[in-house]
Amino acid sequence: MNKIRTRIAPSPTGVLHMGTARTALVNYLFAKKMGGEFLIRIEDTDKERSTKEFETNILDGLDWLGLQHDALSRQSEDLKHHTDAIAKLIESGAAYESEEDSKREEGKKVTIVRLKNPGKKITFNDLIRGDVTFDTTDLGDFVIARSVTDPLYHLAVVVDDERSKITHVIRGEDHISNTPRQILIQEALGYERPLYAHLPLILGEDKSKLSKRHGATSVDDYKEMGYTKDAFLNYLALLGWHPTDEQEIFTLVELVKEFDIARVQKGGAIFSVEKLDWINKHHIEKLSDEAYFVGLDLSEIITLPQYSDERMSMVLPLVRERLHKFGDFEHEEIAFFFDTPTYKTENLLFKGKGDIADTKKHLEHVRKTLSELGNDAWSDTEVLKASIWDYASEVGRGDVLWPLRYCLSGRDKSPDPFTILPILGKEESLKRIDTALEDIV
Ligand code: GLU
Repeated sequence: MNKIRTRIAPSPTGVLHMGTARTALVNYLFAKKMGGEFLIRIEDTDKERSTKEFETNILDGLDWLGLQHDALSRQSEDLKHHTDAIAKLIESGAAYESEEDSKREEGKKVTIVRLKNPGKKITFNDLIRGDVTFDTTDLGDFVIARSVTDPLYHLAVVVDDERSKITHVIRGEDHISNTPRQILIQEALGYERPLYAHLPLILGEDKSKLSKRHGATSVDDYKEMGYTKDAFLNYLALLGWHPTDEQEIFTLVELVKEFDIARVQKGGAIFSVEKLDWINKHHIEKLSDEAYFVGLDLSEIITLPQYSDERMSMVLPLVRERLHKFGDFEHEEIAFFFDTPTYKTENLLFKGKGDIADTKKHLEHVRKTLSELGNDAWSDTEVLKASIWDYASEVGRGDVLWPLRYCLSGRDKSPDPFTILPILGKEESLKRIDTALEDIV
């Protein structure tokens, strides 16, 4: 059997789209699973719309995802082979030149090249859809080149795939109607037919084709939002594909082992940000603390007056518990651990109600109890909790714990006071309670 070779053939007319990344991933997985090769071919023949910037963006994006290619080519560099193929088709009578009115410039004549369509039924075996039959009669003698030296997409794809010895053309379902045309060109050129697989479209939650209106569609957007490449790849793989068991979290290496194109579904695959978030959370949970640190943007935090690596290492688990993706990290949520908070005295009141004199009394009691605890107690959340629990239960937990938590954090929402106390330590915690007390007149 020939060595398996797959390819992704992006046109550099836009940034790397999620759909292209998914097609690239499937091509990569399919090839690697079979010990084959994965190629990238930049389809840059549309000179007006192709740019170097988009090409760089696409290659960088695939590189970020870790989809390493075994070879890279540019369609524009293969022009000679395309023109040779056009000449061959004309010579054999399979195609002909035709003088027609230009569609681009009114009143101008152009000599285009059309394939002489034998007008037959084409059946190809699609690895996902089974036998697919098209009657090509309606296609007529379709155009394959704007001139003998200016090939169009169908011809260029066929010639390039043959030259690169592509064994499997795996691409989006939106290309399925292109396949019969391309097969007719292959047959006219006497090429062997590769195998085909057309992947289900990616749909938005409303089941229409995914577009910008549904939210972010480019790989860059997801990178910037703070998804990890492993999670993003993992999610892309699950778009329309199911492993044999319930496992949903995979690394790229695991995906290569597990992937089976026969398990790709025919129907559209619905993109769900919620599912992506869930997968990302699982991936970031597996990261080491060091890798987690690197992923977070701590630039503001490390400049705060009480910042220390030691305190940060205690805050980190709290951050890890909550985040679905690095982009959700808001430094305001943890800044109070490293800087004295500012707060409003009236917010010390539980639910904004009650009596400030009572609140002061509770805080004084709590301050006294906490100040009498030794260092061992201060490192143990449970001991700290036990020390004031009975009092709080007696007079009203909210009336005691709310002002305590608020004077430590200065925030309406924060972890509970027994989580904050050991992180701030005795000295700083008592200082913050004192500051609150001083403000209560
Ligand atoms: N250049 C085409 C595209 O970007 C790819 C065609 C193919 O995979 O055959 O959709």
